Amino acid sequence: MKQYIEVGYALSNRVKCQNCLQNIVKDDIRIGHVLTRPPGFGFDKKIWYHLLCLTSIKGDRNQDLDIVNIHSLKEGDQQKVRQKVDQIKKSSYQKKDQKEVKYLSKQEHFQNYVKIQKDLHFNQKLRQQAMFFQKMDQTDEQW
Ligand SMILES: [Zn+2]
Repeated sequence: MKQYIEVGYALSNRVKCQNCLQNIVKDDIRIGHVLTRPPGFGFDKKIWYHLLCLTSIKGDRNQDLDIVNIHSLKEGDQQKVRQKVDQIKKSSYQKKDQKEVKYLSKQEHFQNYVKIQKDLHFNQKLRQQAMFFQKMDQTDEQW
């Protein structure tokens, strides 16, 4: 599953941090961990964290992790996010966290996202086709 990180300021006090389970206060930096689903499989899943509560960065194995929308933050806050990401990368024993991190703008991400959705859709179609042919093979064997 494709994943990315979306950063921004909390728009309200309503979102809970999945680590400490406290609400993220409006205008605080929030870190969204987003799992992208193939089209037709429901909405993307988004989990929010306080910046300080982020302890790992996950993503697909051997793939770059996109960090989206960082440019919308104030200069100092961008710095905090980059420091946090660096710190996690350095302190991580886990291979999955030792990936290249790319900082993307919303626009760059959107283009990427469209591509990801297409890829997922494509893979899903391939899988369906594979299953279809598998069934055909099985039917053949029965004959
Ligand atoms: Zn928290």
